[in-house]
Amino acid sequence: MDQKRIVIIGAGVVGCSTAYYLSKMGQKNITVIEQGPLFETGGSTSHAPGLVFQLNSSKVLTRLASQTVEAFKELSNDDAPSFYSVGSIEVAQTHERFEELKRKAGIAKSWGIEASILSPEECVEKSALINGAIIYGGLYVPSDGIAKPLRAVDKMAGFAKSCGAKFFGHTEVTGIHVVNDEVKTVETSIGSFEADLVICCAGFWGPRIGEMVGVTIPLQPIAHQYVFSNDLVELANEVDEVKSPLIRDQDKSMYFRQVFNGIGIGSYQHRSLPVEVSEISKYGESKEMPSVKPFTPDDFEKPWQDAVELIPGLKKAGWKKGINGIFSFTPDGMPLLGQSKKVRGFWVAEAIWVTHSAGVGKQMAEWIVNGAPTLDLELCDINRFDTYAQSPAFYKSRSVENYEKVYDIHHPYEPATTSRNMRFSPYFGRQQTLGAYFNETSGWEQPQWYEGNTQLVTNYEDKILMRKGWEARYWSPIIEAEHIHVSQYAGLFDVTAAKKRIEISGTGSLDFLQGITTSDVDIPIGQVTNTIILNEIAGIKDEIKIIRLKENKFFILCSGPVEASWIEKHIPFSSSISINDHTAGICGLRLIGPKANEIMGSFDQMNFNLSNLKLKDVKETYVGNVPVTVVYDIYDGIEGWELFTTFDQGIQLWDLLMDVGSPFHIIAGGARALESLRIDSFSVRSGKDFWSEHDPYEIGLDQMVDLTKTSFIGKEALVQRKEQGPKVSLVKLKIKDPSVVVMGHEPVLSGDEIVGFITSAGYGYSIGCGIVYALVKPEALHENVEFNIEYFDKQYEAFVINKSLVSTK
Ligand SMILES: Cc1cc2nc3c(=O)[nH]c(=O)nc-3n(C[C@H](O)[C@H](O)[C@H](O)COP(=O)(O)OP(=O)(O)OC[C@H]3O[C@@H](n4cnc5c(N)ncnc54)[C@H](O)[C@@H]3O)c2cc1C
Repeated sequence: MDQKRIVIIGAGVVGCSTAYYLSKMGQKNITVIEQGPLFETGGSTSHAPGLVFQLNSSKVLTRLASQTVEAFKELSNDDAPSFYSVGSIEVAQTHERFEELKRKAGIAKSWGIEASILSPEECVEKSALINGAIIYGGLYVPSDGIAKPLRAVDKMAGFAKSCGAKFFGHTEVTGIHVVNDEVKTVETSIGSFEADLVICCAGFWGPRIGEMVGVTIPLQPIAHQYVFSNDLVELANEVDEVKSPLIRDQDKSMYFRQVFNGIGIGSYQHRSLPVEVSEISKYGESKEMPSVKPFTPDDFEKPWQDAVELIPGLKKAGWKKGINGIFSFTPDGMPLLGQSKKVRGFWVAEAIWVTHSAGVGKQMAEWIVNGAPTLDLELCDINRFDTYAQSPAFYKSRSVENYEKVYDIHHPYEPATTSRNMRFSPYFGRQQTLGAYFNETSGWEQPQWYEGNTQLVTNYEDKILMRKGWEARYWSPIIEAEHIHVSQYAGLFDVTAAKKRIEISGTGSLDFLQGITTSDVDIPIGQVTNTIILNEIAGIKDEIKIIRLKENKFFILCSGPVEASWIEKHIPFSSSISINDHTAGICGLRLIGPKANEIMGSFDQMNFNLSNLKLKDVKETYVGNVPVTVVYDIYDGIEGWELFTTFDQGIQLWDLLMDVGSPFHIIAGGARALESLRIDSFSVRSGKDFWSEHDPYEIGLDQMVDLTKTSFIGKEALVQRKEQGPKVSLVKLKIKDPSVVVMGHEPVLSGDEIVGFITSAGYGYSIGCGIVYALVKPEALHENVEFNIEYFDKQYEAFVINKSLVSTK
């Protein structure tokens, strides 16, 4: 066992969970430094009421929560449980919310959480505190409950100590010494500690620790109200701390739990109360813990009225005390995990609720010890933010927006309202003129569709499947019209926001790329290839495109900053290979559709000779007077062209293509039509249909794996996984009823059994019905199998339409 000198900063629930799992995995040289007293440290954990609602639209958050519940149950004694499985009821006070709960019940099935819809009477049966007259019903999750984080912390720290870990309370970390971008020593109020690895689990103090090593930790501490009622008559005979289910009222942004004979009430309804880290008091400076700000009763007036309406017994009881407790929010509502790409050995586990804490500790330990976690943590990776998102102006306002919307009904296409207009491609002005409806992708303002294409809706009126209800939100029939038009003529799409564009160059570049990819990438200069990068445990990190420009110069298109930083991290320290990120300087356009080749052929007389190019060819040339790198390839299952140029000449390229394409009925198309065309072309996408929990055989990407290659990251694990056989299979289904489309994440059933869930969903104009891709249990795939898809409490029949995606293993 490779023993690392690990220093963990912070002994809250996250620091202790991480120490616990690292100890379980055999690490013995762990030091935990805590500025407050052990273990009621005064951080957020010390006053967390511990409500655990596991279900989240994010699969990874749901899994982290389930792992936390499992862990806390194991960390219980009969007389001192760390988790009370009392269940939860989420009530609906509006029809819209009740519909949303039905959708959530479906997602619960997809993510493996038992959940059911209750009538108002059934809600009252489960908790007599609820006023059944004002609700439409509720969502019941029996495995939810109350965590006792301090009890769990005590047990986890005890175990870690028994394995050799050392805990220092009342010890402040004052600095971190970094040499050659690598952590060396942690300076504290009692002396310095040498470290191979520092893990920042400092809660909302995290940004201060990040500053010590020059790493931005983009979180915003926000105060949140939590109030204790006096005893209720209805709970007068209770002797247990908690027996009643938790109650959540998202319409009023509130939650409730029993605390012996009273109720604990949390409210997100109040105005947001961001707190600067510099405003937080030091230990001992005030009688309250540093993580508590003075209560602001005015902010609780309206929530109290709402609380009394839902739980009438509260009126007589009244409330006795409240706190404005501080905890962390991030720009996208997800935690911040992993090793910073800037400083080797500097890891973070920040912005984590008690709900996800032990799951996070487990995954962090796996990541550190095995090189990769078993859950896909892409959405939580600290390196997911490009430079623009590291500005305090961006992440503070976006984090506050997240706080304000935390209990809203979230639609997958709902745009953010703060911190917009961060990044523009050079085509932005042209797109505005065409009436683009923009949404944000990785900070870029990206056209979703163009109002200028409205006429097409009339042209294709008889073909378009109109949407209603949930699917019709943030949607326009223009998306469908653009899809249909491009599949008959040609479409120009701005793909600047779609991928990260990096260049790898220098002696040894080819060997390096061979070592991180699953197929042979020693392609001729002027060619492109698609390949896969695997993590250390053979999970797919990304499907990437590699373009060879020179002997030792490669242009790579990968999914985003996480993948780019993963590639960068694997470049040998003292090699002469360099990596350059061109995402901000090179823009891209994609031309697809049956007329695309003819349009490109029109440039023949302007230097560019199409007749020389074959599929997979790349040419650095001029189109008119614009220097371009042209790539002729299959994109999302469709043959077409991508043209890259520098930002300064982007507009010229757009104008040229639109002018030359005009006789061929070219249109500018939005990102939503492009996605719809992808699904209709039966093409799978990294991050959407598969992620690092899956191997290429499970996804049907066998053709991108060459096991005769000497070695590549993940090869040994892949051979083992291949021998073991697939745990899931990706299949494509068509929905029998041609008027039905779904949105993704719905459960797939075979008979009464839940056998998988949907990844991508769209409408296939090529076959005249809804198409979905689903990850299902391989055992469920047999001849003539029929599935049902559950959507808003109804089931729809679906059939496998293409078995080629099913692993051939
Ligand atoms: C009012 C309120 C209600 C909440 N309700 C819930 C709930 O019901 N369910 C839920 O899941 N979550 C809830 N949360 C959120 C949850 O409490 C936190 O997200 C969680 O406790 C964070 O744990 P942590 O270990 O990351 O941070 P903390 O518990 O804050 O621990 C971080 C530790 O780092 C230490 N530290 C910082 N800087 C230094 C330094 N320089 N040197 C040494 N030590 C340092 C701090 O002293 C602190 O002890 C609630 C939070 C609040 C405020």
